[in-house]
Amino acid sequence: MDRTFKLLTIGDPGVGKTSLVQRYVHGYYTKDYKATLGVDFALKLVKWSDNVTIKLQLWDIAGQERFTSMTRVYYRDAHACIIMFDLTQRSSFQNALKWKADLDSKCCQEDGSSVPCILLANKCDLSRREVNQDEIESFCREQNFIGWTEVSVKEGLMVEESMRYLVNWNNAGA
Ligand code: GDP
Ligand code: MG
Repeated sequence: MDRTFKLLTIGDPGVGKTSLVQRYVHGYYTKDYKATLGVDFALKLVKWSDNVTIKLQLWDIAGQERFTSMTRVYYRDAHACIIMFDLTQRSSFQNALKWKADLDSKCCQEDGSSVPCILLANKCDLSRREVNQDEIESFCREQNFIGWTEVSVKEGLMVEESMRYLVNWNNAGA
């Protein structure tokens, strides 16, 4: 059986969204991506169990498009969303709130509930941090994220696990 699962990645420019998609879909990390213009789209077939294959569509939205009417089109029919920020850029954490609000104001699921969102705190391989865990924790609770974790796309830390968590949350593999 095939299931299609549309997953959004949003967040400020430079936080690591394109790197995440590249790492997850193509299995490598490089420092040299061009800044995304418009939207990138990647597809990964995930063999979930003996009889379920998930077609995971990853929508990588360019930061430049933020908070315009364009995002409405990208958000449509999303099953889940990753909101990413950079632990070394406090402004990207503050803007996660705006991204969440933008998503919730423009998109919801068929039953009217909001799209499940996970918050990824990227670049945990770097020692310089501008955001601490307590504030991420309370932000997450206040804003109804389904969870958060520190990740390092560079080191491949918690990338796979985060994706599985999202797909499981939606019961897409059931
Ligand atoms: P996007 O604008 O959100 O798509 O961000 P990119 O994926 O283009 O990444 C922006 C910059 O952050 C690039 O130079 C990446 O190499 C770097 N980057 C991405 N993930 C990590 C990470 O986990 N650790 C570190 N140190 N740098 C990262
Ligand atoms: Mg990008």
